[in-house]
Amino acid sequence: MDNQPEICFVASEMYPFSKSGGLADVIGVLPLTMHKMGYKVCVITPLYGRILTANFRPRLVYEDLKVGYPWPETTTDVYRADFKGMPVYFLERGEYFDRRYYYCTYKGDYFDNCERFIFFCRAAISLMQAFETPPKIVHSHDWHAALVNPYLYYQRRFNPYWKNTSTVFSIHNLAFQGRFSVRLFWDCGLPYEAWNMNGVEYYDSFNLLKGGIAYADKITTVSPSYAEEIITPEFGCGLEGILQNRSSDLQGILNGSDYEIWDPSKDRFLEANYSYDDLYGKHLCKKDLLKLLNLSDKLLSRPVVGFIGRLRDQKGIDLLMELIPELVSLNVGVVVLGEGDSRYEIELMNMVESFMGHVAGIVGYTEEMAHIIQAGTDIFLMPSRYEPCGLTQMYSLRYGTPPVATAVGGLKDTIIPYPDEDATGFIFQQPLVLNFFDEIKNALNLYQDADAWKEMIIRGMRADFSWRRSAEEYIQLYENFGYDL
Ligand code: ADP
Repeated sequence: MDNQPEICFVASEMYPFSKSGGLADVIGVLPLTMHKMGYKVCVITPLYGRILTANFRPRLVYEDLKVGYPWPETTTDVYRADFKGMPVYFLERGEYFDRRYYYCTYKGDYFDNCERFIFFCRAAISLMQAFETPPKIVHSHDWHAALVNPYLYYQRRFNPYWKNTSTVFSIHNLAFQGRFSVRLFWDCGLPYEAWNMNGVEYYDSFNLLKGGIAYADKITTVSPSYAEEIITPEFGCGLEGILQNRSSDLQGILNGSDYEIWDPSKDRFLEANYSYDDLYGKHLCKKDLLKLLNLSDKLLSRPVVGFIGRLRDQKGIDLLMELIPELVSLNVGVVVLGEGDSRYEIELMNMVESFMGHVAGIVGYTEEMAHIIQAGTDIFLMPSRYEPCGLTQMYSLRYGTPPVATAVGGLKDTIIPYPDEDATGFIFQQPLVLNFFDEIKNALNLYQDADAWKEMIIRGMRADFSWRRSAEEYIQLYENFGYDL
């Protein structure tokens, strides 16, 4: 009884078991931080194919656990791994999760995403119902896990097991909503009354994220600024109305940075380690990066800028693409790591060919290169059109690579902009090429002043975005329901 989880995280990705972006980073560290603080936490996530073959050794703990379904009843096998002492439950259903990609291929989304994640949410509820005691908090994340909230909302009406459970739903990116045909609503097992403009319906489509927003007891998002932005039409992605209705239950809690993984003083991927009181290793990392990517060694004494992220409009990669020739003409090196829209992938490869030795592009997803680039570049670029929190700028601060970023969401909340005397980076107001270029030029100018640059680097490296502070805020939110956790 004693080790029964009281707080259950439900999410579609968790680093190091699975990852396609920042959500995985958060789920890989936030619950663990709570666990280390003494709370009884677990994570529930899909069993993607390669998890069993990797070195994690999950054990089968429930075979053929029944998953209530409106159509013929189905089952899930449940595996459990101890992740640094915290239980992680993996829900297995091969035909849904044993695939090459998580959500989509280059041809587009998997056609059965709605069915896959309806299954995931219902299987998560079935698992939690198999526990000896009900969890006090079910904390679900993003559209894939959003339906947990309406399901539990209606379960609480007639199923006494759930009557003392509260729900929290976190939005990591409002733009990904999981919108499907009404046809799929009829089979999902929610009552007809959920189909209305204050429920899961969005202009005749079935909107999973909206279901999370409408039915969770509390809603959070990943930075205070993003919480303010998403109730406006500019950033609300069409859901600003329901978010405004629920604004008294909406809170922004800034993500943290996992310094167990992202710390240049102990990063095992780096050529050399370094810290703010001895930056020599950063120089060696730059040298290594230039060699690794066949960049001119003349760039060792010139600024090299880096970009890591999805090659999507959200990240403003088009703004960077437009500027690459200008940057090269200023004798600045450019390194881009990312994957996403094929038109940007192709454009990037063309840039590499046109500016051999000055521009390096890696199309793909490689954790190791992300670390090597964070350490080996001088300036980190993040011209996002919106950014719920953004983790890469927090990593770049810690790696002594001051960011140049747009004044949106979590970027505003984590970077102190030049010319403030405490500045840790550079911020520009609108995601326009000219503004971006002006701000990069400010960074390049400061780079020329070695002392001032070093001071900025040190301030950034000393900034502390540890997860403990975020975890404490979430615990406070949970305890506000009246639980003694
Ligand atoms: P988002 O979640 O919007 O993609 P974040 O900045 O919150 O953006 O988190 C992105 C995470 O994914 C970071 O850990 C970053 O290093 C990683 N990442 C993004 N693209 C790549 C890539 N191509 N290769 C390796 N890591 C990547």
